[in-house]
Amino acid sequence: MLANVKDRKSQYIDNQTNRGKWIFGQAGISKRVEFSARDVARAVKDELSVAPTKSSTICVLHNHPVEDFRSANFITKEQELLLRTKQHKLSIPPSIRDTRQENVDAWKDILEDFREQGTSVDVRLGEVDPASLTYFRPIKDEDIRREFPNYLAEVNQRKKIEFEWGDTIDSLLIKLNETELDELHRHSYYRGKYDRAEYAKFNKFGLNYLKRMDLFSELSDVENSKVAEILLKHNPEALKLKQNYMDVVKGGSIRNRIILRDVLYDWLKTSMTTPTEKLPFSKEYSKLREAYARNGAYIRLVPHKNIPNEPPCAGTNYKP
Ligand SMILES: [Zn+2]
Repeated sequence: MLANVKDRKSQYIDNQTNRGKWIFGQAGISKRVEFSARDVARAVKDELSVAPTKSSTICVLHNHPVEDFRSANFITKEQELLLRTKQHKLSIPPSIRDTRQENVDAWKDILEDFREQGTSVDVRLGEVDPASLTYFRPIKDEDIRREFPNYLAEVNQRKKIEFEWGDTIDSLLIKLNETELDELHRHSYYRGKYDRAEYAKFNKFGLNYLKRMDLFSELSDVENSKVAEILLKHNPEALKLKQNYMDVVKGGSIRNRIILRDVLYDWLKTSMTTPTEKLPFSKEYSKLREAYARNGAYIRLVPHKNIPNEPPCAGTNYKP
């Protein structure tokens, strides 16, 4: 599988027998290489039988080739010119999609299998581009507390409002009698869902529970829901809370996406005009890390030159 992966110059998995053979994302178009975590697990198992150990790391890396960003018009004419002079290398950090929790969760069962067999295996994710290797993972509350105090107040406020809103709609939904619940559900996106044969076996109690769950998720997600209009009618306090929820929770995540977009735009420019080794010490890097934190991701960038100074697949938590 590794040979195949290498040929396509897109994904690369470092393991004990192939350690040190990095592929740098200098050129090439974007190609998705599908791989099964089970195949990787088998490769790790083979390695463990040859060289048993109590703990091991699976390092999952992928490339961000420059061409990809050219074709997406992400690079301006001015930047293109800078790039052609090849003075410095372009750093193209992970996408938000790269950093999603589901990319970590995909490994959960496999790690559990290893744990049961007595080996603790850690999965670390990273992205490789012409300037650097950037490790990334979903952010934790303690990371925010420790490293991103500017963002902490916003997180706490968001959580408080999210909790209040959840609590409020929960208590309103629980108060509805069966007729009211049916009526409200008829206005939801999920109307008609329980007419299907598969739900025939459910009793009333079970169906009512499911209907309340539907309504809860609609009220947590949807901005202009008919359901909210009906449920919150004549309830000014709850309406005010809903507005707050939209502004702070939903609006906040949109604002944070915009912050990241703007910061990334500056970052591309910075990486082309700054010696790569100096990037981790730049003020733009601090801004970049905070912008990722605001979007749920924790990152650490390692310039190519510094990779040999660190343990293989050192990850996000390593302190150089
Ligand atoms: Zn990516």
